[in-house]
Amino acid sequence: MTLLPFFMISERVLRDKSACRSMLYAFSLYDKLMAPIDRVWASFRQNYRDHISCRPGCSSCCEKGITFFPLEVYWAAHNIGNDRPLASRLAGLKLSQDSACGFLLDEKCAIYPYRPMLCRTFGLPVMYMEGSRYLFDICCKNREGMDIDELKLECVLNMDSLNSRLVSINRIFSEITGIDSSARYTMQKLHELIK
Ligand code: SF4
Repeated sequence: MTLLPFFMISERVLRDKSACRSMLYAFSLYDKLMAPIDRVWASFRQNYRDHISCRPGCSSCCEKGITFFPLEVYWAAHNIGNDRPLASRLAGLKLSQDSACGFLLDEKCAIYPYRPMLCRTFGLPVMYMEGSRYLFDICCKNREGMDIDELKLECVLNMDSLNSRLVSINRIFSEITGIDSSARYTMQKLHELIK
């Protein structure tokens, strides 16, 4: 297994085998965050298939300037580094400079298997707490003809719960690597790590 992005973190972490193991542990915790998203997607597809517009070619959510936690960007770089066919396809890639995310090429995500958590939530019904009440939201393309107040709860992703776990795992990653946990990176950072 290659650990390409490790050298980008710090010499201290590189030399410290237990820090390397801890970093892999943080990545494995992040992996586990995908399961609830996949479950909600499965329920959403099962119950509302006819309402869902998400498909290859729709990239409305992939906006320029979306930022991610360091954990997410290094996780993606780590996985891309271990996926030789993808790593070589991406080698020498020039990021798209149009209005969308730089990894959106020909209307498709060039790093789809390793896209960050937020990208996996695009298009899903989500709920989050504002003040003392829950608010629901969903991409306007997926809500046509749907009464959002009648949505089955198993088809709605609780963003507060997911985000608080993401923040905790990012903090663990930060303690191991020394990277500021409050830093936020655009996809430009991932591009720098993998090129
Ligand atoms: S990483 Fe992929 S899914 Fe996420 S914003 Fe960029 S192109 Fe879209």
